[in-house]
Amino acid sequence: MSNTSYAPTPEWVARRDRLAYPTGNLIAGRWENGPDTLVVTSPIDGQPVTEVAAGDAATIDRAVAAARIAFEDGRWSGLPPSSRKEILIRWADLCHERREDLALLHALEMGKPAREARDVDMRAVVRTIRWFGEAIDKILDEIPNVPSDVVALIQREPAGVVGAVVPWNFPLTMAAWKVAPALAAGCTVVLKPAEQSPLSALLLAELGQQAGLPDGVLNVVNGLGHVAGRALGEHPDVDVVTFTGSTAVGRKFLEYSANSNIKRVWLELGGKGANVVFPDADLDKAASTAAWSIFYNAGQMCTAGSRLLVHESIHDVIVEKVMAIAAGMQPANPLAEDAPLGAVVSAQHMGNVHRMLEAGVKESGELISGGEPVLTETGGSYYPPTIVDGVRPDSLLAQEELFGPVLAVTTFSDEDEALTLANGTPYGLASAVWTNDLSRAHRFSRRLKMGVVWVNCYEEGDLTVPFGGVKQSGFGRDKSLHALDKFFDIKTTWMELGDK
Ligand code: NAP
Ligand code: MG
Repeated sequence: MSNTSYAPTPEWVARRDRLAYPTGNLIAGRWENGPDTLVVTSPIDGQPVTEVAAGDAATIDRAVAAARIAFEDGRWSGLPPSSRKEILIRWADLCHERREDLALLHALEMGKPAREARDVDMRAVVRTIRWFGEAIDKILDEIPNVPSDVVALIQREPAGVVGAVVPWNFPLTMAAWKVAPALAAGCTVVLKPAEQSPLSALLLAELGQQAGLPDGVLNVVNGLGHVAGRALGEHPDVDVVTFTGSTAVGRKFLEYSANSNIKRVWLELGGKGANVVFPDADLDKAASTAAWSIFYNAGQMCTAGSRLLVHESIHDVIVEKVMAIAAGMQPANPLAEDAPLGAVVSAQHMGNVHRMLEAGVKESGELISGGEPVLTETGGSYYPPTIVDGVRPDSLLAQEELFGPVLAVTTFSDEDEALTLANGTPYGLASAVWTNDLSRAHRFSRRLKMGVVWVNCYEEGDLTVPFGGVKQSGFGRDKSLHALDKFFDIKTTWMELGDK
């Protein structure tokens, strides 16, 4: 399989060799070591990259205290929104200047091609921080029409201290989707990156300091989910938790909230996206997009199109086209500028994906592409595009999120059956319908129980448009002005005008 082993590009290697970044926890503007350490292992070759400080409950306690002081004394929430805007825009500019370093850290810690991290992730990160910075001095409060002897004010106030807990699959995009609107709203933040991907988050935070974020406004505590993440979820002085990750851990955050201070919890969770392809669709475009939607980022996407629901009359032609595209999307060294796919985040995660695939195929379906780790001689974690045909809708491969490059193909015979299949999982994040029949496009997209529906496209998105799920894919929206709602409290103030 080593025909897929592209050589690393010398520029990326040279940049790696001179790259410097913080490795501590950032609390109240100071970088601290201890109390524990976390080894960051690269899925490129299975070798350690570095060690970072890892926090425990006491570290989280100090980070929350720093965020509380910074919130209450108004050093950030008390600034005019236009001043917060300037700092956020400066931060976005610094991220743009350092995009290649930040992209490289993505590649080293979670195995995404560095080129892709630079051109896709870093563009999204810069735009997100800049967009929320630019938005914040355009938000107006409200004065409703109430009887003339009183005045009522409806005002948005920053909600307070925000705990942000994020995954490793788009480490900085997810962090920016949380941190940028929270800071724009005037909140202070404690960020807990995923244990696999703290490095890019730490450099991001250092750039925030350089941009002028006051001490204690953005704190970062690395560490294990069930230690540092849990301590943040249970903390009595955190006002809001914003989380992206698995449905299982999202459920825990609801428990943490219920068992502590009833903090607000916003959840962006897993998905089991479908591409639903009708015979009247543009079959070439449907097939190539369906392949990209599951194999991009090695399938490690909440929105991954992990199910291909195809009308029985076009099954063979679609599957053949998807297989041809998959053949050209083989994993390679993430430091190769032309790597079509990178590594899977860790050996452990790849093992989970592989075990689930094997259990799934035993239950139903036929493995027609991939299905075994590749490039094993590198010591890294590489898994090829994998396709299972004839998957039963109630079986593991059709129901569970593998979070790897594994596509489950199922046929349908009519529109009602297609809809039942598409909606037939506990998730409701995103799906696409492929048809050139305008009525069907409207009818079908209306009946899809998803937070995001695409018609004749996949992964379309923009900062102006909200993103998030329904059902067990969570609630609350990232991106767009709606994202700010999560970090504001609505306060109403009544004033009686009295007699003249
Ligand atoms: P995960 O295991 O749920 O972890 C997410 C975050 O939660 C990490 O920072 C993790 O820390 C922390 N965590 C783990 N266990 C915890 C606990 N008991 N208490 C508190 N925090 C805990 O998810 P992941 O494996 O990193 O990412 C994959 C999942 O994210 C998939 O299910 C995917 O669908 C979902 N996702 C959703 C979206 C969306 O927008 N809907 C976007 C991207 C990903 P550690 O790293 O230390 O475990
Ligand atoms: Mg995890």
